[in-house]
Amino acid sequence: MGRAFVYVIVGGGVSAGYAAHEFVKRGVSIGELCIISEEPVAPYERPALSKGYLLPEAPARLPSFHCCVGSNEERLTPKWYKEHGIELILGTRVKSADVRRKTLLTATGETISYKYLIVATGARPLKLEEFGVNGSDAANVCYLRDLSDADRLVDVMQSCSGGDAVVIGGGYIGMECAASLVINKLNATMVFPEAHCMGRLFTTKIASYYEEFYQSKGVKFIKGTVLTSFDFNSDGKVTAVNLKDGSKLSADMVVIGIGIRPNTSLFEGQLTMEKGGIKVNGKMQSSNTSVYAIGDVASFPVKIIGETRRLEHVDSARKSARHAVAAIMEPEKIGEFDYLPFFYSRVFTLSWQFYGDNAGEVVHFGDFSGNTFGAYWINKGYLVGSFLEGGNKEQYEAIARATRLKPMVEDLGELERQGVGFALSV
Ligand code: FAD
Ligand code: NDP
Repeated sequence: MGRAFVYVIVGGGVSAGYAAHEFVKRGVSIGELCIISEEPVAPYERPALSKGYLLPEAPARLPSFHCCVGSNEERLTPKWYKEHGIELILGTRVKSADVRRKTLLTATGETISYKYLIVATGARPLKLEEFGVNGSDAANVCYLRDLSDADRLVDVMQSCSGGDAVVIGGGYIGMECAASLVINKLNATMVFPEAHCMGRLFTTKIASYYEEFYQSKGVKFIKGTVLTSFDFNSDGKVTAVNLKDGSKLSADMVVIGIGIRPNTSLFEGQLTMEKGGIKVNGKMQSSNTSVYAIGDVASFPVKIIGETRRLEHVDSARKSARHAVAAIMEPEKIGEFDYLPFFYSRVFTLSWQFYGDNAGEVVHFGDFSGNTFGAYWINKGYLVGSFLEGGNKEQYEAIARATRLKPMVEDLGELERQGVGFALSV
């Protein structure tokens, strides 16, 4: 059995939702577009899962955070897809792809053919087993990538109220989940190998601010070590975490956030890969001209940095999706994707934004003992990256604009004195 579509999107996460929205804005006809997703629900804003979804009071639940509410645009419910004649094949994994024949085979045995394919398969969490530690399947060990993980995390959290949680990993998942655990009245201890949290983005000075804030909320940090094994009880639940430094932490639950790997396996050996993702050009087009890749799975030329990068953030997923659809539907009108990297997080009462590239020399500014501070990164005399905590809309827009303009900076002392005022004056 089989069906044919003009456009097929494999994967039904953030980038798929934004791509569908762009297809409709650009006048896709009824019956031309199909989305195949392993998840049982229509595309939603994944960032909600580590924030509003985990709140003890009035938590966010679908359908409130379907795409594209994260960009203050219309909410695409299953009804919306139906009304626009988009075939949403949910709860269905694509198990193989043949880019030469332009077909996909689903786990239900259906062959779906396409004229244009958009790969939007995102990524999967790295498992502890990949670091030689067993125990990922224990009932009180949680990962967080999709809705079913989030439901499980909520259940485990609620069953352990007042207990001890160990968070493995000091990146985005670790930081956002540790905050949620404390808000849910668990004692949280974070364990990670680096000298400070958010090692790939934060400077030591920035990290210290967040670590001190977290400590004031009761979070403990154990840095510079990794877990080596778990202790289990007779039910197979983890009761303690053993660390390489020889210490043992009692645990009622464990949350793991040790990074991701892009879901590229359907296309290995068929498409050119780079930096762990599917290599695409400035139109998000892969080495096969009928296949495009967007979101976490795409390695694309970031013009402003002058390098191919794979970004794992929602703004990039949304914008790369829109660009790919524009390039497919109106190729003569669309130029190269010119993206300014944008990352952000919100935890407790804190909120930061980062634009650009964290390369070169760092100039910190503002009041690190107060609520608003930041940093600029200066590379070869030019502003290439900006970070701001506690800013207002105007200030965030200013640092984004300034980073996009890449102004020359001659006097770093003056830059520090001006702080966010520098971005506002550019
Ligand atoms: P995804 O949204 O992961 O979607 C991929 C989809 O493909 C999934 O539905 C998956 O089931 C499906 N799929 C995969 N393989 C197959 C297959 N073979 N067949 C069928 N379907 C398949 N970024 C930020 O910038 N800010 C944030 O605050 C933020 N918070 C986050 C919180 C969490 C908990 C997580 C996990 C991520 C967060 N991110 C955040 C990152 C952001 O959500 C991702 O960058 C974004 O979701 C990437 O979109 P995507 O469409 O590429 O992948
Ligand atoms: P990250 O890459 O952000 O962080 C992983 C962390 O785990 C790093 O600090 C890493 O250290 C550390 N680590 C690696 N191996 C081990 C180990 N064996 N033991 C302990 N720690 C280890 O990934 P996350 O898992 O936190 O996030 C998953 C995805 O979700 C990412 O794509 C992220 O962008 C996205 N996300 C984004 C959010 C946002 O933008 N606000 C919020 C939530 C998720 P090292 O750097 O040394 O490898």
